[in-house]
Amino acid sequence: MNVAGYTILSIPNFVLLAIVIIAALVFFVNRVKYLYIILRLGKEDNRFKEIGKRIKITLKRILLQICVLKDVSARDLAGLGHAMIFYGFLCFAFSYIFMFGRGFIPGLSFHVLGASFASYFPLILDIAALMVMIAIVWALLRRYVVRPPRLETTREAAIILGIIFSLMVFHFLMEGFEINIDSHETATLAFVGAAFAGFFSNMGFEKTTQEALFIASWWIHVLLVLGFMVLIPYSKHLHLILAPFNIFFKSLGPKGALMPILNMEEAETFGVSNVEEFTWKQLLDLYTCAECGRCEINCPAHLSEKPLSPRHLIHDLKVHLLEKGSNLLRSKNGGDGKAETEEAAEEGYEGKSLIGDVVSEDKIWSCVTCGSCMEQCPVSNEHVDKIIDMRRYLVLMESKFPSEVQTVFKNMENNSNPWGIGWATRGDWAKDLGVKIMSEDSNVDILYWVGCAGSFDERNKKISTSLVNIFNKAGVNFGILGAEEKCCGDSARRIGNEYLFQMLAAETIEILKNYNVKRIVTQCPHCFNTLKNEYPQFGGEFEVLHYTEFITELIAEGKLKLTKPINKTISYHDSCYLGRYNTIYDAPRKILKSIPGVKLVEMLRNKAKSICCGAGGGRMWMEEHLGKRINEMRLQDALDVNPDLISTVCPYCLTMFEDAIKEKDVQESLKSKDIAELVEEAME
Ligand code: SF4
Ligand code: SF4
Repeated sequence: MNVAGYTILSIPNFVLLAIVIIAALVFFVNRVKYLYIILRLGKEDNRFKEIGKRIKITLKRILLQICVLKDVSARDLAGLGHAMIFYGFLCFAFSYIFMFGRGFIPGLSFHVLGASFASYFPLILDIAALMVMIAIVWALLRRYVVRPPRLETTREAAIILGIIFSLMVFHFLMEGFEINIDSHETATLAFVGAAFAGFFSNMGFEKTTQEALFIASWWIHVLLVLGFMVLIPYSKHLHLILAPFNIFFKSLGPKGALMPILNMEEAETFGVSNVEEFTWKQLLDLYTCAECGRCEINCPAHLSEKPLSPRHLIHDLKVHLLEKGSNLLRSKNGGDGKAETEEAAEEGYEGKSLIGDVVSEDKIWSCVTCGSCMEQCPVSNEHVDKIIDMRRYLVLMESKFPSEVQTVFKNMENNSNPWGIGWATRGDWAKDLGVKIMSEDSNVDILYWVGCAGSFDERNKKISTSLVNIFNKAGVNFGILGAEEKCCGDSARRIGNEYLFQMLAAETIEILKNYNVKRIVTQCPHCFNTLKNEYPQFGGEFEVLHYTEFITELIAEGKLKLTKPINKTISYHDSCYLGRYNTIYDAPRKILKSIPGVKLVEMLRNKAKSICCGAGGGRMWMEEHLGKRINEMRLQDALDVNPDLISTVCPYCLTMFEDAIKEKDVQESLKSKDIAELVEEAME
C-alpha cells in the first residue's frame, strides 16, 4: 500500500468499490423513480413560474437554515441543533468526493485544491464532526430523555442519528490512523485526528496494524455513507433530498388565498375524495414531511384535543398514497406510471377511502384554517388547501357538513349575510350617523367595508360606529355600500362552498367596479384577506387596507391625535387573518402604544405563534362539540399575563373572547374591546 501523507490511499479493491456504489445507486434510483411515478398520479399544478424568485427563496431558506432557525427560542433549540448537523454534514458531503475518489484515483487529495485548503479543511472537518456529534447527542437526549410532546421516539430516527454519529466517529478513526501511517505536516491542524493518532501510538499499535485498521475504517465509512444514501428515500428522512424541491415549488401567491376551483360551471367533480386527486405538489408535501411535529405546536385543533393533528394528517395521507399508489400502478397498462383510465385504476383499488377511513370527517371539520401549521412547517408544506379540498368534496358533491351550516349557507344565498337578516337593512346601523351611501354619493376617497358582523351584530355595530367617528374626526371622505354590500364569502369558501363564494365574489366585484372603487378600508380581517388576496383571482383588483393600517396612517399624518390617557394594562390578540396570513403585526401594536397610559403586555403565544380564537375557517358557525373550547384556551393565554383588558381587531375574535369571559366568569377582572373603541376613547 502506498500511503503518502494525508493524501492518498491505493485501494486495491476498486472493482469491489465500483460494484458497491453501483448497487447502492440502483437501490436509490429505483426507489426515487417509484416515488416519482406515484407523484405523477397527482393532478397538474403549474409551479414553474418565477424561477428566479423560487431559487432565491430556496437558497435563503435552506442555506441560511431559516426554515428551522426562525423557530429557535429559549424553550426550543431544536432548530439550532438541526442547523449544526446541516452545516456539519455539508462539509462532509464535500469531503466524500475525496473519500470515494481516493478509491479510484491514487494520490487524490485535498492538495488538488491548494496547500492552504489542504491545511485548513481537515481542521474544518474536525470542528464540523464535533459539532454534528454534539447536536446528535443533544437530539437523542431530547427524543429519548426530555421527550417534548411534539417529538415521537421512532426506531428510524434512532437509526438515522446513529448512522450520522458513526460517520463522524469513523472520520476521526481514519484521520488518526492516517496521521500515524504517514504523519503529514498538514494533518496536525486536525486536532481531534491528532489526538486519536496519539492515542493509537500510545496503545503501541504497529504501523501495519494501523494500515489495516485504516483500510477497514475507510470501507466501513464508505458503506455507511452508501447505506445512509439508500435509506433516505425509504424513510421519513426523504426530506433531506426533497425539502429544497418542496420549498422551491411552494406557492408564491398571497398566504391567505385559497386555490380557486377554475371553470366551476364546467367541472364534473369538485374537491378531493381520492388521494390522487390532490395535485402533484400536494403529494410532494406528503413525501417531504419530516414528522418534526412543529405544525402541531400551535394548532388550536390539536391543542384543544380535537381529532385533528396536522402532522398525523400529512403522515396518514402519505401512508395512504404509497399504499394506494402502488395498487393503482399495478392496475396500469401503460409504462409511464398512469393507469390507462383513472376510473379503471380506481375500480381496481379496494382499500381505504380517503375521507372516512384515512381522514375522518371530524378531522376535516376541526380545522379553523388558522395557518399556524403552514407558518411553522420548515419544509413549506401547505396543509390548509388539502383540508379545504376535502371539505369542497363533502359540501359540493355529497352535501355533507355540520347541520348548523345549512342555515348559514341559505342565509348567505338569500340575504348575503350568515344571520339571514333582511339584506335591505344592512346599512341601517349608520342611518343616524350621516354616513355617505355610495348609491347616493360615490364621490369618496375611501370605501369603508363594514362586513356582516359590523352591519348586523349588535356588539360589532358599536365598533362600526366607533370607526365612523374616527374617520369623521380625521376628516376622511368615505362612504359605505349600505344595502349593496354583501358577505365577502370568506366563511363560505373556507367551509368548502366554493360555488357560493364565487357567486358572492362576482357580485361584489361588479358593484365595486361600477363605483370605480380604488381604496377600501375593512373592519374585519376576514373581509380584508378575502378582498385583498382572493378577489384578484376573479378580476377584482383594489387597494385594500385593514382599519388598523389606515388608522396608523392617519396618526402618522397628524390627522388623528390620541391624547386622552387610558391607564390600563392591555394585551393584544393577533387575528390569524391579519397577522399570520397578512403579516400585519405592528399596526395594531403601534396604535396601542400611541395611546397615553396604555401598558401593552404580550401573551406568551403572540404574532406568528398566536393561536386562533376558534372562529376561523367557518368554525364561527359550527358547534364545538369535540375537545376543549378553543376560545377558553386562548382566554387562558390572556389571563396568564394578567391584563385589565384584552384588545382585538376582528369581530369574530371579539365575540369569541366575550363568550369565553362570560363562560369563565371573569367579567369583573377582564374586559375585551376592539382597538377602534380604544382609539375613539383616546381621541382628542
Ligand atoms: S390551519 Fe390551524 S387548525 Fe387547521 S390544521 Fe393548521 S394549525 Fe391546525
Ligand atoms: S408537516 Fe411540516 S411541520 Fe408538520 S411534521 Fe411535517 S415537516 Fe414537520
